[in-house]
Amino acid sequence: MTTLVIGGGWSGLATTVSLIKQGHAVHLVESATQVGGRARNVTWQGKMVDNGQHIMIGAYDHMLAMMQLVGVSPDDAFDRLPIDISIHNPHYSTLHLSGQSRLPWPWSLAWNLVRSAGLNSLKSLVTLQKDIPRLLAEDDVTVLAWLERANQPKRLIEQLWEPLCLATLNTQVNKASAQVLAIVLSDSLGRDEPTADLLIPKIPLGTLFPQAAADYIQQQGGKISKQTRIAEVVVEEGQISGAITTRGDFIESENIILATGPDQTAQLLTAHLRFPKPSQTPITTVYLQYPSHTRLPNPLLGLTGMMSHWLFDRSQQHPGLIAVVISSDGPHEKLSKDALVEHVCNEVHQLLPDFPEKAEEGFVIRERRATFECTVENHRQRPACKTSLPGLWLTGDYIENDYPATLEGAIRNGEHCAQLLLSHLTSTEL
Ligand SMILES: Cc1cc2nc3c(=O)[nH]c(=O)nc-3n(C[C@H](O)[C@H](O)[C@H](O)COP(=O)(O)OP(=O)(O)OC[C@H]3O[C@@H](n4cnc5c(N)ncnc54)[C@H](O)[C@@H]3O)c2cc1C
Repeated sequence: MTTLVIGGGWSGLATTVSLIKQGHAVHLVESATQVGGRARNVTWQGKMVDNGQHIMIGAYDHMLAMMQLVGVSPDDAFDRLPIDISIHNPHYSTLHLSGQSRLPWPWSLAWNLVRSAGLNSLKSLVTLQKDIPRLLAEDDVTVLAWLERANQPKRLIEQLWEPLCLATLNTQVNKASAQVLAIVLSDSLGRDEPTADLLIPKIPLGTLFPQAAADYIQQQGGKISKQTRIAEVVVEEGQISGAITTRGDFIESENIILATGPDQTAQLLTAHLRFPKPSQTPITTVYLQYPSHTRLPNPLLGLTGMMSHWLFDRSQQHPGLIAVVISSDGPHEKLSKDALVEHVCNEVHQLLPDFPEKAEEGFVIRERRATFECTVENHRQRPACKTSLPGLWLTGDYIENDYPATLEGAIRNGEHCAQLLLSHLTSTEL
């Protein structure tokens, strides 16, 4: 019997690829005209750009393996650079989170931190790291409560932990889950150096994985129906029997994997199951096109105490293109698109006086429900992949896992969901 996967984001695609690889028949339906969901291609003035600037790191090992499986070589797709981030703040000297040194990792990171923020910053980092086992063993607390408990100085909170928390959890420190942040930090900075490497894509997001995954699925005999929105999942005698599209077509299936975002999943499940819908937060990306020779001094620059949070050099794909990312909510949401472009151009010029005062062109993409808010409460109530309704399975970045809303989390959940379904089918056949 063919399994129906609803939703062709990175998680639904990873589930489908994993099932197909094991010889299982799958029909994937996607409401949009293209696969990729929240990490897809967008066209701006003839240029293919990402719907929102994403950060990918060497610790994303499931993502890298999945890309390889569908025929994308990570070596060809990314420039892999040792972590080298400068975080600026109008009130403090620049802080360097960098592995660039003759010393081996993690001493190189420690050395650069001490050079830019003093010996006490290293002592504070070690205190925090030592507190991780206790944090994970006890009830979760907010990131801010954890930082204060571990006596982190104001400067480190403002210039290091707040930006890292926003970049990884897209959630303000006074609400974010400390346990999730601790796991992300341990996986990225706490292992060996390659996990902290920055992966700078040479191709747009939608081409990086979604398109290659769709090609793989179809080449292996799977079916993909785009522009097909599911309006209802159908339950008969307490068991999934299929789904009805908004055009009124019935797609029969004894197993449905819902790989939709939290809002759509909640909506489709209303009549059948309790689904704790999480609060969600936006991410705003401002693309600025400067003259083609214009480059940032580093591929990634951090800004604190300003409206802009991160500057990415996108010259690899489009010479002179800079992406400015603003995580979560804040005063930027009240500005019109033109006013926001003008504001971030001023901030870029203030930080880098060699940059022109104005960009040649600016383009704002506001993804209002970019990620679930990774609060203590939302993280605690993330639902499991296997539901109490026979034949219904859940995947997506929000489904239970140690990670915040990330491509890596979406892919891990997709693989896990496929594995659980296959084990279930094997056990019921016996
Ligand atoms: C601007 C932005 C920046 C981000 N930055 C980062 C980053 O730096 N690093 C990182 O790792 N992650 C980042 N993320 C998060 C990452 O993109 C998501 O975690 C990931 O894409 C989620 O994938 P998903 O498959 O779980 O969900 P989605 O991508 O939401 O996929 C769900 C799919 O289901 C489809 N669908 C919905 N309803 C229906 C229906 N009724 N019938 C059929 N299809 C339906 C949707 O069209 C969609 O394609 C960012 C996200 C955004 C938006």
